Amino acid sequence: MTRQLYTRTVQKADGRDLTFYGWEKHERPIVADLPPLEASALPYKRWHPLRQEWVSYAGARQGRTFFPDAASCPLCPAKSDGLTEIPADDFEMAVFENRFPAFRLDAGDAELVGGDEPAIGRCEVVVFSADHGGSLGGQSVERIELLFELWARQARQMMDEHGLACVLPYESRGEEIGVTLHHPHGQIYGFGFVPDLLMKSAEAQKAAPVVKDILDRTPSRLILDKSDHSMAFVPDIARYPYECWVAPHRGTPGPWDLSAEERHDMARQLKRALLRLDGLFGKPMPYVLSAQVAPVGFEDSYHFTLQIWPIRRAEDKLKFLASVEQVSGVFLVDVPPAAAADALRNVDIDA
Ligand SMILES: [Zn+2]
Repeated sequence: MTRQLYTRTVQKADGRDLTFYGWEKHERPIVADLPPLEASALPYKRWHPLRQEWVSYAGARQGRTFFPDAASCPLCPAKSDGLTEIPADDFEMAVFENRFPAFRLDAGDAELVGGDEPAIGRCEVVVFSADHGGSLGGQSVERIELLFELWARQARQMMDEHGLACVLPYESRGEEIGVTLHHPHGQIYGFGFVPDLLMKSAEAQKAAPVVKDILDRTPSRLILDKSDHSMAFVPDIARYPYECWVAPHRGTPGPWDLSAEERHDMARQLKRALLRLDGLFGKPMPYVLSAQVAPVGFEDSYHFTLQIWPIRRAEDKLKFLASVEQVSGVFLVDVPPAAAADALRNVDIDA
């Protein structure tokens, strides 16, 4: 079933745009928001010739908000006694350009020294809910479907209108992973180039249908949820303890190409996977969730996946990337995929 999606774009006090997304029309009055920051140096990037990858330098990021209390949270709706990033007293979901971006569309104006290049791109913040508490897994299936629509439209805008080469929607969840704001939110990075790891994945998929092969060979023991349209599972190539993927059965370049049924089933399976991860040790699971979508030029051979990389491997133990992982890229995994899937399937969830 197709549903009417509503968007409303407004300009913030400092010129950044903000778009409300909803299954209902956003008609709340627009009030004052944060005043403009002083102009800071534009971000730049430099090529690392040994790693063969870009490094981005953005000094302005050091000034960003760090663990504010709920009363001064910049992602909450506007309050009568305090300004936030969101100049309205309620909303379903909102997305706006990051105040401290590592990549900017206007980075071409940066002052550069030899070897530096402008860090062209766009960094957006996605606020999942007006409610300061809670989590992505705690949102309704409908709200998660709205997130997929938001990812789809913002990604297409970055690629089609802004000419960016590659988009990465993601959520970093938990203090243990480095999150500095508790309000449920994610981000979308658009890059003017295709980052190395994302290029490797896109090229591997161009050479062979590797994601389809992974789905086809996944035994039932590794499957958490499966419907006619999609499935949630522990991949047999998991690198993180309790790693979970959600993918449509059909190869598709990104959320902009999902059928209504695929979107619904993936949203429900993502919610259930996140609730299983939170239930596993009875406390919020820190993780990185990425929506892996096709870079420009790889749409025909790409298979969209959602990948959750959790870092809690036992009730009181975190998985740190230590010497071997950091230096060689070889992961040492102490929770085998079958054991992870058994444990996750045994978590009682109410969804
Ligand atoms: Zn908040």
